[in-house]
Amino acid sequence: SSSGLIVSFGEMLIDFVPTVSGVSLAEAPGFLKAPGGAPANVAIAVARLGGRSAFVGKLGDDEFGHMLASILKDNGVNGDGILFDKGARTALAFVTLRSDGDREFMFYRNPSADMLLTEAELNVQLISKAKIFHYGSISLITEPCRSAHLRAMEIAKEAGALLSYDPNLRLPLWPSPEEAREQIMSIWEKADLIKVSDNELEFLTNREVDDEAALSLWHPGLKLLLVTLGEKGCKYYTKHFRGAVEAFVVKTVDTTGAGDAFIGSLLRKIVDDHSIIEDEITLREVLKFANACGAITTTKKGAIPALPSEAEVIKLIQG
Ligand code: ADP
Repeated sequence: SSSGLIVSFGEMLIDFVPTVSGVSLAEAPGFLKAPGGAPANVAIAVARLGGRSAFVGKLGDDEFGHMLASILKDNGVNGDGILFDKGARTALAFVTLRSDGDREFMFYRNPSADMLLTEAELNVQLISKAKIFHYGSISLITEPCRSAHLRAMEIAKEAGALLSYDPNLRLPLWPSPEEAREQIMSIWEKADLIKVSDNELEFLTNREVDDEAALSLWHPGLKLLLVTLGEKGCKYYTKHFRGAVEAFVVKTVDTTGAGDAFIGSLLRKIVDDHSIIEDEITLREVLKFANACGAITTTKKGAIPALPSEAEVIKLIQG
């Protein structure tokens, strides 16, 4: 398609999830591979909706890395920004939702290939073509990837891209909650568009989730702040208006990737006309579409397999 390019920057990894639900990692009788990593999910969400996206990040030159690169390619994501590290291996996560409702994580990141992307390795040409540059915060945790991340943001901004930030907090990855908060906020004011979940809003502001808490995260250059609320939909804040858009009622089986589907679909809708953000009626239509994408993603297991096509979204919206 001739739609504008959305470049998504950061980590891609494999989540190993137990073959049965509600067990601890130690009790799991076996594991299934689920490709993930929020920035990669967003790139695929965009492509599945017929948009143009590229992923920029580093994978291990191993079986898992090549599998992930193929998944991006098979889903129509431009892979010109993907690198393979000769030494380090692809990041892995073991994740389970235990019967007590808590998530248990174990990571292979010591260091994994994604953490070793350097500034010099960035595909400047590709990043300069972005109409939207999207990123998370996990790539900020350690050098050299942190510098690469900051430089990539600069390149995109200089080329006129809209900067889109979803901090995507995975707390166990940081040395401490304080460091997580500090790193997430260190690039806050560079973003044109920010999406946080209610949990992230609570964590970042240390207060109850409400409009005041959300507005305490406002910065002067910001164009749009979104707060996702799971089955309660989302809230939006701009310089001129604010409001809420209801979620769709669906049979939820696994919420993994809902936030990525939400932001990916929003970016897909605004990439060719950033001024949509300034028109509340159109923005609400786009957010309804994004809520539908998030909802559909919760009806199937995993993130990538659950990301919807445009036809599926239209079907849900039209009932
Ligand atoms: P995150 O994955 O970032 O925590 P959310 O879980 O809030 O984000 O989900 C993002 C969006 O997906 C929500 O704003 C909502 O529109 C949709 N969504 C998430 N969970 C549900 C659900 N259980 N039922 C319907 N829609 C949902």
